[in-house]
Amino acid sequence: MYQSIPGTFDILPHDYEHGGVTFYGTPAWREVESRVRGVLQGFGAEEIRTPSLEPVELVARGVGQGTDIVQKEMFTIERGDATFVLRPEVTAPVMRAFLQHRLEQRGGTQRLYYIGPCYRAERPQRGRYRQFHQFGLEIIGADDPSADAECIAAMMAVYAAFGLTDRTRLRINSLGEPESRQRFAEALREHLAPHADQLSETSRRRLDSNPLRILDTKSEQERALLADAPSLATFISEESRQHYASVKLLLDGAGIVYQEDPLLVRGLDYYTRTAFELEGDGLGAQAALAGGGRYDGLAEAVGSKSTVPAVGFAAGIERLFLALAAAEAPLPQESAPDVFLVALGEEARAWAFKQAQELRMAGRSVVFDLGARSMKAQMKEANRKGARFAVIVGEDELASGQAQVRDLTKGDQRSVPLSELNAALQGTGLPA
Ligand code: AMP
Repeated sequence: MYQSIPGTFDILPHDYEHGGVTFYGTPAWREVESRVRGVLQGFGAEEIRTPSLEPVELVARGVGQGTDIVQKEMFTIERGDATFVLRPEVTAPVMRAFLQHRLEQRGGTQRLYYIGPCYRAERPQRGRYRQFHQFGLEIIGADDPSADAECIAAMMAVYAAFGLTDRTRLRINSLGEPESRQRFAEALREHLAPHADQLSETSRRRLDSNPLRILDTKSEQERALLADAPSLATFISEESRQHYASVKLLLDGAGIVYQEDPLLVRGLDYYTRTAFELEGDGLGAQAALAGGGRYDGLAEAVGSKSTVPAVGFAAGIERLFLALAAAEAPLPQESAPDVFLVALGEEARAWAFKQAQELRMAGRSVVFDLGARSMKAQMKEANRKGARFAVIVGEDELASGQAQVRDLTKGDQRSVPLSELNAALQGTGLPA
């Protein structure tokens, strides 16, 4: 007996519990995916699907050498001279596809959304998996603050579509441009260096490699050291300051509630200006629902000759499910068929098999019993499957040219001429 790899999970036709976590079934996943699509298409976004496998260099450059993802979380596959990686996120792949297919030639701003699996070699825990699913939006080709605001608005609209607005907290910040961030990093290093002995081992390492990442420390002692540290806001250019002010103005106008968080950073060089994160209430350690920002430097980092301004967000679907579970929000259960065809006897079964086909062609979902079982067994299954109607055909019904149709939700039953069955089952109630 084999088991799924730890940190991966099956999505079954129904919800199930495992280790105190609800793993939702395919009906709930479809519902979530379809609402996400609906919301993002409402912003004029178009779907893009990129491969799960990408060149390792794309991810190394596109996600960044200094990140945990690249340093320790990549699933790589060696194949001859090439090394592939299972994509840990989708922004770099979307930018690759944008550049590869010259999507700027379609004209205007490209709003591309995706939904699909991502892979990171993490230590699995509740809400943190090795194969998980993200949806996200990349707005490529616009440097206007309205693009940043639209991206945040689209992200918030998804959570609003699930009634979660009041259970989330949006934090935003401006990271300015790489040069001013560089100067800030220097200043931060100078501020912290005399206290290096009070820093954790990780933070000490980051003091050299990427001091900005110390800003999101959880340690009280380190937070105290940061309290009187220089602030990034004083380093960023006037242009970036204005850009940020415009983003905030648009968000205010649209009634999107946020908190400014000067400690919110993304360590990578290609991030510019707007950065944001969305947290959910009551989710414990894995509270991050989604995050994103402006990444005007990414295209060049992955080989473009020109700058391509872009902003995007990425969100975890498993985290969204955690938030929905915490909110006790109902999600669809298994999908029930419209009709269960109960056929008794060989002749009736042959007739019912053909009839099932016709009903399906007419748009009904129809289950035909494959076991030539008793009436009782078939009716039991029809009920278990939650079918709306049971259509019962035996020798008598064939002879009389009438089928028994039972409305399984209401419990009433009526004869319907076989020739009128298709028409009769189009409605929602029992045909008169
Ligand atoms: P990131 O690209 O790390 O900013 O991730 C974007 C979102 O994906 C996060 O806010 C989470 O909701 C989700 N996410 C990231 N890593 C995982 C993981 N290992 N398991 C489940 N969800 C994840």
